[in-house]
Amino acid sequence: MSSMSPTPAEPSPSRTAAVIPAAGRGVRLGPGTPKALRALGGTPMLIHAVRAMAASRAVTLVVLVAPPDGAAEVKNLIDGHALPERTDYVVVPGGATRQESVKLGLDALPDDVSVVLVHDAARPLVPVDTVDAVIEAVRDGAPAVVPALPLADTVKEVEPAEPGVPETVLSTPVRARLRAVQTPQGFDRGTLVRAHESVAVDGEGATDDAGMVERLGAPVVVVPGHEEAFKVTRPLDLVLAEAVLARRRANDGF
Ligand code: C5P
Repeated sequence: MSSMSPTPAEPSPSRTAAVIPAAGRGVRLGPGTPKALRALGGTPMLIHAVRAMAASRAVTLVVLVAPPDGAAEVKNLIDGHALPERTDYVVVPGGATRQESVKLGLDALPDDVSVVLVHDAARPLVPVDTVDAVIEAVRDGAPAVVPALPLADTVKEVEPAEPGVPETVLSTPVRARLRAVQTPQGFDRGTLVRAHESVAVDGEGATDDAGMVERLGAPVVVVPGHEEAFKVTRPLDLVLAEAVLARRRANDGF
C-alpha cells in the first residue's frame, strides 16, 4: 500500500507594509500647515517619512493616513516626488486621534500583508537600519517590536494640576528601567488588528500601538532605537532635523 506524501504547504504570504499616521495638526510646533506637510530641507516631512520606510527593501506598500480634509493634497505630494518604484503607495483620510488614524490605515491593507510597521510622519529621519531591525524581529517571531533608547533625563510621575498651580511629584521610576520608545513599531498583522478592535478610543486615544498590544497580554520586545529617529514636536526639533539633514548631505559629498 502506498501512502501519498503530504502536499507541501503553500508559502504563507509575508508582505510587509508601513502605515504612516500623518493626520495630526502639530499644535505644539506652532500655528500653520499640518505638521506632516511642513518642509524639512525643502521637502515635506511626510515625504521624508515615506522615503525612510520605502528605503527598506522589505517594505512593498506604504499607506499614508492624511489629514481628514487633506487626502487629495497628500496624493498630489506623493505623485510629485521621486519615490522607489518597487513600493506601492496608498493615501487614506485620517481620524480625530492617532489611534483612529492608524485603524483607518490598517483597514486599507490588502489580504497578503502579514507584517505591519506603524511609523509617525513626525519621525522623518529614522535610518533604514532601524527599520530593518524592527522588521527582522517581527519575522523572527515577535508579535510586537518597538525601537527604544535609554533616557537622559530622570522622569517623575506627577499629579497634573491647573495651569499656574504647582504639580506635586508622586514618584520617581528607576531611570535605568525606562526606555523612550520610537517608531516604526512592527507587528504581526493579526495581533495589531486584534489590539485595535479590542481597545476603545478613550480621551486622546492610545499614543503608541505597542501599548495597545500590551493590553491584550501579548509580549512586546525592544530593539535598539536611533537618536535620528526623534519626533519633530517642538520648534527646536525643526532646527535639529535641519542640522541632521545638513550633516547627511555633507557626508554624502565625500
Ligand atoms: O501628536 P503626536 O505627535 O503623538 O502624533 C504622532 C503621529 O500621529 C504624527 O505623525 C501625527 O501626524 C499622527 N496623528 C494622526 N492623526 C491624529 C493625530 C496624530 O495621524 N488625529
